[in-house]
Amino acid sequence: MLGMYWELKMDITFKEQISKLIEDEDNFEYFRDIAIKHMTSKPYFVKNMLDELMIFSLKNNLHKISAWTYYYLGWHYMVILEYDKAVKSFFRSKEVFEEINDKKGLIYACNGLTNVYCEIGQFKLANEWGIKGINLCEETKEKEPLAMLLINTGINYIQMKNFYESKEIFNTIKMMDFKLFDSQILSCKLALAEIEINIGNPCVALKYLNETLDLESDEELSGSICETYKLKGMAYFKLEEYNVAEKEFIKSYDLSNLCGYINQKCSVMVEWSKLYLAVGRYDVAIELLEEVVKISKSKDFNILLRESYHILYTIYKKNNHIENALYYLEEYICIDDKMYDYEQNHLIAKMNIKNSKKEADLYKLLYDKTELLSSIGQKITSSLDLNSIIETISEEIDKVINADIFGISFYNNDKQEGTYYFFNQNNGTKNIVPFNIDENNTFSSLCIKNKENIIVNNKEVDSAKYNVVLDKKYIGKKEKSMLYTPLIIKENVIGVITVQSYFENTFTKNDLDTLKIIASYSAIAIHNALSYKRVEEIAIYDNMTGFLTRFEIIRLGELVYKKYKDDNKGFSIIMIDIDDFKLINDTYGHVKGDKAINMVTESISKCIRTTDYIGRYGGDEFLLICPGLKLCDAVEIAERIRRTISKEIYVIDEGILINITLSLGVYEFSKYDLSFIDGVQKADKRLYKAKRDSKNKVTYK
Ligand code: GH3
Ligand code: MG
Repeated sequence: MLGMYWELKMDITFKEQISKLIEDEDNFEYFRDIAIKHMTSKPYFVKNMLDELMIFSLKNNLHKISAWTYYYLGWHYMVILEYDKAVKSFFRSKEVFEEINDKKGLIYACNGLTNVYCEIGQFKLANEWGIKGINLCEETKEKEPLAMLLINTGINYIQMKNFYESKEIFNTIKMMDFKLFDSQILSCKLALAEIEINIGNPCVALKYLNETLDLESDEELSGSICETYKLKGMAYFKLEEYNVAEKEFIKSYDLSNLCGYINQKCSVMVEWSKLYLAVGRYDVAIELLEEVVKISKSKDFNILLRESYHILYTIYKKNNHIENALYYLEEYICIDDKMYDYEQNHLIAKMNIKNSKKEADLYKLLYDKTELLSSIGQKITSSLDLNSIIETISEEIDKVINADIFGISFYNNDKQEGTYYFFNQNNGTKNIVPFNIDENNTFSSLCIKNKENIIVNNKEVDSAKYNVVLDKKYIGKKEKSMLYTPLIIKENVIGVITVQSYFENTFTKNDLDTLKIIASYSAIAIHNALSYKRVEEIAIYDNMTGFLTRFEIIRLGELVYKKYKDDNKGFSIIMIDIDDFKLINDTYGHVKGDKAINMVTESISKCIRTTDYIGRYGGDEFLLICPGLKLCDAVEIAERIRRTISKEIYVIDEGILINITLSLGVYEFSKYDLSFIDGVQKADKRLYKAKRDSKNKVTYK
């Protein structure tokens, strides 16, 4: 459509008008009007026209025309967000105006440069060109471009967040009584509204914004309508009318999206995200800002990028996502550095940057420390062996806290006793001492009893303060300052960690915080190790009898078999089974049956050597492994067991006295046995032979 319209125009009016340019270069009015009117709404239509003009002016050496064409091309590139090309075009325009000594044109070129530099966040350059233009206006007494330059310089000040200076500029414009275009009146009102919002007068801002809506009936002004909605959103947000604010933001977003005003759209998204930040809807805020960052990076929207980074940083900091917070703070500072010039700008702005830098350094430090502590945590919790855990804690604490002594104690609440492990951090020597909470009040016992952290700056002074007795057993003469922190798991204290120094006032609150973090990792590691030990014990020992489990006795048997099979020292096993045990169960019940098993196994334990292994092979069946024992000696042991048990009277309940007998099969391994289990089966066979014979018997053949 546009193309056709243009071609039609080209044929008739354009040719007419263009020929007028040859007569007088000042006959540019017609093209200027088209450019201004359609710049935003039909940018490519304007571009076509400008390209034609450019060719024409170069061909005919019409320098002034080419300078103006460069100038409007600059605006075109601004509209389509190609800022690099916009800068180049305005610059070229400035150069040509300079060559032909056209001061008025030069003022406009300065204005173009002010705008583009402001847009890309180069405020210093924007200001320089603005002032240059204003000076030229004074020199030439040009009024119309002065208004325009003042407006743009005022807007530049808003971007620099110098709202009061900016307000002064706009007041000057009001006072100077310029004859302004509608679009300029609109720009002033929007700028004033933005200023009032930022200096805390949202109601005044809304008054300006209602006036702008009256002026915006022309569809060419849809860009400023988007801005009006956005500013209304900001004003209502300031008034804490969040629902109304959100509606305005949505209107602005939808319209700018529809018209393809990307910059405007991003700018609404940033303001909108602040609303979500205020009401705690962080996810949505982040989503909006990430989108803005993505677009702004590709389009060089530095101001929006900078602001988005800052809000993202704030959100992540609020939510304690240190890593992300740091990332965005660094990005923010990087882009801020690019935009600001230290010499040129306000002291406050300078200080803000310095503070951000300091904060970033602090954050970096904190982050590095968090990273270090979490890697320490990983190391500490990666072992299940108590001794190596203690060694690791000592080594890792040495990296982050400067101490002479490290001590860790485990405390058994049931037994009211514990063990203290002390490490000399200077020479690596270790000292293990028992620890009893009830003897006297010590720093450690206070720490455990009250679950409290203790900082001791001076041993003598602080022991009086805490009313504690210094335990000579494990506090040497040299330590002067100490830190204590309890090891806590599920609210139970399982021990205490301490670091100690030979000097007074060594430790800070920071050290205590570090120790606390390490203590929490240590408590987890120790708890895991102890739990693991218990699980291991369950797997190794039979719960009821305390004998080895079937699994464990077979595992050990296999090891012994491997060791003795090529040796003729002898290696025997004895299979033992209670006679008629079912009868006991049937007569007295299972509980009494259990008791009987317990009593019998206790008796068996007393008959065996410490070098032997006994395991519960089945319900009432036990396997005794006797390494290094020949058959005859094993038979002797078996006989001893049989005799002992058969003589015993077991009281399994009040008034219930029973007699128990055993049958036993003894077997000595020979070179013909292929495996341990092979021998077990042979022992079992002999046991059943004893059962068949008479029970209460040892069989070894
Ligand atoms: P035999 O002289 O032939 O060995 O006769 P027995 O009655 O002892 O028979 P056997 O050894 O085959 O059976 C043992 C019984 O022991 C079977 C089971 O009900 C019982 N039993 C196994 N484990 C337990 C236990 O942990 N507690 C109790 N109370 N009884 C058990
Ligand atoms: Mg039995």
